[in-house]
Amino acid sequence: MNEWNREEAEKTYNILTWGEGYFDINQDGNLVVKATQASTPIIIKNVIEEMKSQKVALPAVIRFHDILRSQVKKINKKFRDVIDEADYRGKFCGVYPIKVNQMREVVEEIVDAGEKYDYGLEADSKPELLAVLAYNTNANSLTILNGYNDEDYLSLALLGTQLGRKIVIVIEKFSELNKVIALSKKYNVTPLIGLRGKMSNLGTGRWAKSTGDRAKFGLSISEMIRAVKLLEENGMKDSIKLFHFHIGSQISDIRTIKAAINEGARIYTQLYKMGCELEYFDAGGGLGVDYDGSRSNSESSINYHLNEYVADIVYGLKQVCNLESVPHPNIVTESGRAITAHHSLVVTNVVDKISVTQTEFDIKPQTGEHHLVTNMREMFEWKISEDNFQEIYNESVQIKEQGLNAFNLGVITLEERARLETIFWQTVIKIIAFTKTLDFVPDYMQQLEDQIAPQYLCNFSVFQSAADHWAIDQLLPVMPLSRLNERPEVNCSIADIACDSDGTIRKFINQEGITPTMAIHELKANENYYIGLFLTGAYQDVMGDMHNLFGRLNEVHVYGDNDDPEGFYIEEIIRGNTSSMVLSTMQYNPEYMAQKMKKDVTKVVTAGSMAPRQGVKWVDFYEECLTNYTYLRHD
Ligand SMILES: *Cc1c(COP(=O)(O)O)cnc(C)c1O
Repeated sequence: MNEWNREEAEKTYNILTWGEGYFDINQDGNLVVKATQASTPIIIKNVIEEMKSQKVALPAVIRFHDILRSQVKKINKKFRDVIDEADYRGKFCGVYPIKVNQMREVVEEIVDAGEKYDYGLEADSKPELLAVLAYNTNANSLTILNGYNDEDYLSLALLGTQLGRKIVIVIEKFSELNKVIALSKKYNVTPLIGLRGKMSNLGTGRWAKSTGDRAKFGLSISEMIRAVKLLEENGMKDSIKLFHFHIGSQISDIRTIKAAINEGARIYTQLYKMGCELEYFDAGGGLGVDYDGSRSNSESSINYHLNEYVADIVYGLKQVCNLESVPHPNIVTESGRAITAHHSLVVTNVVDKISVTQTEFDIKPQTGEHHLVTNMREMFEWKISEDNFQEIYNESVQIKEQGLNAFNLGVITLEERARLETIFWQTVIKIIAFTKTLDFVPDYMQQLEDQIAPQYLCNFSVFQSAADHWAIDQLLPVMPLSRLNERPEVNCSIADIACDSDGTIRKFINQEGITPTMAIHELKANENYYIGLFLTGAYQDVMGDMHNLFGRLNEVHVYGDNDDPEGFYIEEIIRGNTSSMVLSTMQYNPEYMAQKMKKDVTKVVTAGSMAPRQGVKWVDFYEECLTNYTYLRHD
């Protein structure tokens, strides 16, 4: 075995690829965050210490707002640079789709960081539109409205137009057009209209259903031509300003993007030649995030860099427009995932270790013990070699099964069963240790180690904090936040505290690919061990559900500060849900519950079976628990 060092740790957890340069390990083996080359690295463990001093309990979301700002800048600058270099005539007018993370502070930060680039916002629903109207006040940036709409939605959009905002109503289905025409006439407003195209079936990966003839959104080619005619008949043809498509999120293969740009550019130029004075080409979202750091076209990765994505859009559009002699449009993209994924992480503490292998039981021979126990002990004591390790394993499994049968028939005692199973696990551990010294080990033997891997029980809920991992197998980087200068000796999976066997993480990333366990350190007594779930800023943050009523997490917003001794400060603390908050959302009345408990305690006190002082304490304790955080308390 080679020596363990920082580089080994970086490789083990693939930090350098999924981290996009934002994460690294320092000399002391702590994970650090660096928003820019010039920033002082922020030690995540120090942020947790500071949270503790401010009574912010784990699990918690930590947001690094500098990363958010950096991502906004990166995308806008990249488009500007490539546009310059390509001598492209249009501008970049990006928007951030707030559905990806609607947190007000996140949206405000993006709007603020994007102001000098006239970066806009995108909404898909009425509440999102209400938010976007109030928060995107930059008259030079776009506000794009997608999603199905009703009269209220459209009226709000027209209100925005009257306020002087550049609001584009994107038509998702043909029948919406009549409503848009009628309301524009009613309010005497000239709207900006976008047409969403249904692209041919280009998609690969998880969101492939977003395209093709059966896609939920968008106009077919014939509907698009009818839409142009209908608007023309109503004197509104010059309202058509934007052509839009969105081929799905997390596009892992760059070829899909190239093909979509080409098809989209063809449709755009044809519409232009039909006399639509289009100005914007909106390529939607889809810019992916390399969650597993493999730089491949697997579902959780991407096989391209931002540079290639931007170049494919700019040069692809330029080529088709030049061929068709159509002016270069302004370019819109609606990247959400790529903007927000990196800025937030969930921090949790390990509360316990759950072992499959039970070894803490006295296994010394007893007089008169059942022969099955004796046989199992013989397996354990048999000198292991390359010739017999499989035999020892097979025999042991058989004896264990016989032992269970014997127990069910009442032949062996509870005590004997415990001894037999304990010896079995010790034998298995011995076999695994032995196989590590061999060059060749059969597959099933290799899997044995994963099967008996312990689980680290962590204080969080997968359903709340990693919804996509549970629902669609989304990989998220998971790793310890400290001791990274020590070799991690344990391989284990992660279990959450929700009472549901689905509440686990059993897919991890390492150099070789996806594995059912991760390398982690042995827990030390009296020392907290922290684990981070990374890249949770896109979708995960806002998708969590109320399974087991754990609710929202505590949250801190961190900014870097090179003048600060720690290199950072916590700008804001948002408290997570208390038990009474989550109960109220399910129609419980916490006040009534407290009264009812008090009544019952009083009854017992009156009957003389509890001291009045103790009764008051219990009532206070119940009320205090109602107002406390829902997750496990740890000090
Ligand atoms: C969800 C969505 C986006 C965001 O996609 P990302 O892949 O997260 O960038 C953009 N546009 C539309 C219309 C969407 O529905």
